[in-house]
Amino acid sequence: MSIDTLPPLRQVIETHALAAKKALGQNFLLDLNLTAKIARLSGRNEDHDVLEIGPGPGGLTRGLLAEGARHVLAIEKDARCLPALAEIEAAYPGRLTVMQGDALDIDPLAHLTPPIRVAANLPYNVGTELLVRWLTPKDWPPFWDSLTLMFQREVAQRITARPGSKAYGRLAILAQWRTEARIVLNLPPEAFSPPPKVSSAVVHLAALPEPRFPADAKMLQHVTATAFNQRRKMLRSSLKGLAPDIEDHLRAADIKPTDRAEQIDVERFCALARSLSA
Ligand code: SAM
Repeated sequence: MSIDTLPPLRQVIETHALAAKKALGQNFLLDLNLTAKIARLSGRNEDHDVLEIGPGPGGLTRGLLAEGARHVLAIEKDARCLPALAEIEAAYPGRLTVMQGDALDIDPLAHLTPPIRVAANLPYNVGTELLVRWLTPKDWPPFWDSLTLMFQREVAQRITARPGSKAYGRLAILAQWRTEARIVLNLPPEAFSPPPKVSSAVVHLAALPEPRFPADAKMLQHVTATAFNQRRKMLRSSLKGLAPDIEDHLRAADIKPTDRAEQIDVERFCALARSLSA
């Protein structure tokens, strides 16, 4: 059973000759039951505007609208997708706005009314950069309540990783410092057309009203980037360029100078950032 009266996605792709382009990270979801499920994982959106990056032929867009999103703003780089998206706009009058362009260059805020959620099957080449931008705005709370994002599974694991694990690093710390982040769905390559080489996962990140621990965002980013750049080294050596008395700062944050970055939890990284900012 279809979720709407529009043609099946395979037919949409054929009608509009949307052969997938690798350079644009195009791996499309064709199962509308699955896209509706991802839409539901983003929450009940009757009272929310939803920002979607990279709608492509519109599978997730249709899921979001069919599940009741108040309004969807979809930003797509590939102009070939516009006619297919126009058909969805016509089926849901006044509820979908499509902008063509690069999501890294467009400021969507003028076109969105709070409260806002973000839901996307992200192009793999810009996904991490967009996530880092969404996690590091000047002010907190950010413009969004939650992010529901498809990533390569390995990236999803880096976002939700705990201290001591191989995947733990800057991304985990940025995400877990001021959101509740968890993997809510795992998908095999065959869920996509064409199938990518790796598995994927949907991550749900809910913005906390305040960061878990106080710290200056820029300093925290700087410290974690420096620490994990040489993750095998002891912190007294990987961080020695940050301050001449780095061992004192480490001890002030309850960190042993001989510890390695992956042993340090978010709380102590925040304490270190505070000590270095003081
Ligand atoms: N949402 C669709 C789905 O789930 O089937 C398509 C997902 S596909 C993984 C990624 C989409 O992002 C493609 O449609 C691609 O053209 C688009 N895209 C790639 N880079 C982009 C960028 N910088 N800004 C906006 N869209 C982009």
